[in-house]
Amino acid sequence: MNNFELMTQVPTTPAFILDQQQFQLNLQRLSVFKQQSGCKLLYSIKALPLMKLLDATLDIVDGFSVSSLFEARLANEVLAGRGSIHLTTPGIREDQIAELANLCSHISGNSLSQCQLFAENIMLGECSFGLRINPHLSFASDLRFDPCRPYSKLGVDIQGLQASDMPINIEGLHVHTVFSALDVEPLLKTVEVLLTQAEAILPRLKWLNLGGGYLFDRITDLTPVVELVKRIQSRYDLQVFIEPGKAVVGSAGYLVSSVVDCFISDDKALAVLDTSVNHYSEVFEYQREPALMGHLERGVFPVMLVGSSCLAGDIFGEYRFNQPLQRKDRVVFNDVGAYTLIKANRFNGYPLPDIYWLNAGELTLVKRDSYLDYRRQWTE
Ligand SMILES: *Cc1c(COP(=O)(O)O)cnc(C)c1O
Repeated sequence: MNNFELMTQVPTTPAFILDQQQFQLNLQRLSVFKQQSGCKLLYSIKALPLMKLLDATLDIVDGFSVSSLFEARLANEVLAGRGSIHLTTPGIREDQIAELANLCSHISGNSLSQCQLFAENIMLGECSFGLRINPHLSFASDLRFDPCRPYSKLGVDIQGLQASDMPINIEGLHVHTVFSALDVEPLLKTVEVLLTQAEAILPRLKWLNLGGGYLFDRITDLTPVVELVKRIQSRYDLQVFIEPGKAVVGSAGYLVSSVVDCFISDDKALAVLDTSVNHYSEVFEYQREPALMGHLERGVFPVMLVGSSCLAGDIFGEYRFNQPLQRKDRVVFNDVGAYTLIKANRFNGYPLPDIYWLNAGELTLVKRDSYLDYRRQWTE
């Protein structure tokens, strides 16, 4: 039985399946990059903070990248002192600063005023402080996903940043400018801007965090980045970090759903699934049809797959098969490891997907959302 067949036979749906072999393969590729370049590898846990996954990455990653107090606590619990925790976020609250500085090994201030808040509130213990830079280079066509958009809230504009503006205790810089990039050109350009505009600052730094956003698992030639990282590290005697999320876990996740109803609407065949955009919010956000395993470009039976929520636009898209879909048939969306389960919600009272772990041809139930979880959310 191949993985696809195995997944369609998962005992319960909707099911989020995480394929251990696949994310280990992704991590191994990143590990080669790390060995060749000398950089350090963090997993950005916001993509999927499943503890079992975090535990399973420990022998390859050098730590985790986090964006909040809860993520920092979770990362700290898993690492138990065995790696770095990098944090950057626009949303740091004053009353969390002491705990964050305790949990994190590196914090990159998102603005000069946030750096000031840190400086006023803590004795500088073990934590190394950096600054998130906005290199003013836009690569996304959709402004909503461009950290360098006009009036950006993410990082300090590099244009006009003087060495004298830099908070005194800054030991690192952080940049993160793209999402799901399939080539390394943006990274090369970003570093070029850093090297020219932040030239005066670089010699006094200890580290440079190049962020995430690249699908390292799908980029065939990483040599230019390897060379670049080696060059900056030796020229400025600093440590480079990368913090991918989707590149680690995206291709390792699957969403399996069962058809619960079929009918014709305005001449189109519809199949209602036991999942919805509640479990895959990017479908609605981006208004794009997600990849579906078993879809046949020339299939003779077109069917519109729709979600089970009350939202009229809760639609996955139109797919084709060689036989008509029927009730209880299973469909499998692939490439959903990142930013799906973490954003899933219980709108309309539908539970979160069951979570299964796939390894060596075996599916194991990890977690099952129940009525009690739903109830706990809405009772005192
Ligand atoms: C989201 C994010 C990442 C991870 O991004 P991926 O696209 O999942 O690789 C890394 N760093 C920062 C600052 C982020 O906001």
